[in-house]
Amino acid sequence: MPEKLNHWINGVGTEPSSGEWMQSINPATGELSVSVARGTKADVDSAVSVASAAASDWRWFKAAHRGRLLYRLAQSIRDNAEHLATLETEDSGKPLSLSLAEVEGSAAYFEFYAGLVNIPLGDTLDVDPRQHVYTKREPYGVVGVITPWNLPLNQSARSVAPALAAGNVVVAKPAEAASQTTVMLAELATQVGIPNGVFNVVLGKGREVGEEIVRHPDVRKVAFTGSVAVGKSIGHIAAERIIPLTLELGGKSANIVFEDADLEFAAREAVRAFTTNAGQICSSGTRLLVQRSVYEEFVAKVAELSGRLRPSEDYGPMITEDQYQQVQRYFEVAAKENLVAVTGGSVVGSAGREGGFYVNPTVYVDVNNSTKIAREEIFGPVVAAIPFDTEEEALRIANDSEFGLVGAVWSRDISRALRVADRIEAGQIFVNTWSTGAVETPFGGHKHSGYGREKGIEALNHYSHLKCVIVALEQA
Ligand code: NAD
Repeated sequence: MPEKLNHWINGVGTEPSSGEWMQSINPATGELSVSVARGTKADVDSAVSVASAAASDWRWFKAAHRGRLLYRLAQSIRDNAEHLATLETEDSGKPLSLSLAEVEGSAAYFEFYAGLVNIPLGDTLDVDPRQHVYTKREPYGVVGVITPWNLPLNQSARSVAPALAAGNVVVAKPAEAASQTTVMLAELATQVGIPNGVFNVVLGKGREVGEEIVRHPDVRKVAFTGSVAVGKSIGHIAAERIIPLTLELGGKSANIVFEDADLEFAAREAVRAFTTNAGQICSSGTRLLVQRSVYEEFVAKVAELSGRLRPSEDYGPMITEDQYQQVQRYFEVAAKENLVAVTGGSVVGSAGREGGFYVNPTVYVDVNNSTKIAREEIFGPVVAAIPFDTEEEALRIANDSEFGLVGAVWSRDISRALRVADRIEAGQIFVNTWSTGAVETPFGGHKHSGYGREKGIEALNHYSHLKCVIVALEQA
């Protein structure tokens, strides 16, 4: 009988009012891992109600006190790293080393924002000698945090840390396929002394819990990380309610390699860019644009290196059977588009549920940017290699996309590299590296990749709003 995973509401594990549970499957083995509470509107109401009750105290704590608690949470995440990573690997199947890196990244969010609790201060404005005018930032109150399954702990931490630092309280809803670490994060928050009700987690399905969070009249801001389709549907509700949203959505990011780059290094990084987490990362480099003079040699190297990766040791499975099927549907699409995979294009062995949902890293060559393989987010270890001749052509192809999350440029000509970095329509650009960007680096999209920013000091502006106070010093 798999263990039961409860909501975390008001500082305690709480059974779902529906009395219903959903089965979560370990995608590396196909075995049942845990029974996840199936939340309902009643559970959301109860979490929002305790959060609202806790909001005032949390907001009016001395900022340094809030910071100390967040710092203790960072420490506690590190102290429990093995346990958290084991749960993450059980939910997602990813190699433990990757889960451990994710846990460290999550601790870094709390550490970073713990040190910034005094930062969103505001200004004084020189308007009139008879007035003292100042601005200050204030928390929204209850913030809904809805996250996907690909980097579950990391994405919860990415939104929860700045939200709490800015003085908000949180009702979080992780993805149904990977909920365990977010619940444990909230439990650790309670253990380190963050008051009950400040950080709550309601588990369940998107429509039954996520949508109810967005609709709830006392939720004043929502941070959503996930697909474009759900981002749009949440956007409609937020527009009706006139509440702000942060939308961190998908990507089809261009990785542009010029002939004068360090090709050996660029090839290794290009492989990492589309195979890390088995390609299940919004910022994966899934369009590989290579200058024609080095195209054949470079793509052959990328194919060779990706073909050497070992399932389960170097990369994990697709997180769900649905996702596994989706990637295979794209293999059929590619066949219809007459695309050739020089490596991959298939699942691992006779896989399926028993063998885990593993897909071979796949490199399609000579891809036209108008094909579905080049335009749609596959969310698997699949890259479309596209040749180009000139800088202008590379930029035209890179920007010919509905998405604009990240991009990279590889060249030893720094003027060109910076020129191209300036012109790629995306929120974060890497030059001569494929970096996932540290906690300090603001992250977010252009176009259908979303709006608002997570990470960095910038995120605090998205978890607080501005008030301007005008004080008369003498009668006008
Ligand atoms: P998803 O949109 O299906 O689900 C994300 C979350 O939203 C889950 O918790 C889900 O239960 C919830 N949800 C589903 N329907 C909902 C609804 N109608 N109302 C409210 N909540 C709802 O996404 P996914 O399949 O879990 O994740 C993959 C997607 O996430 C990809 O498109 C990927 O690019 C994107 N992503 C983006 C970033 C980023 O930072 N930009 C990071 C990771 C993943």
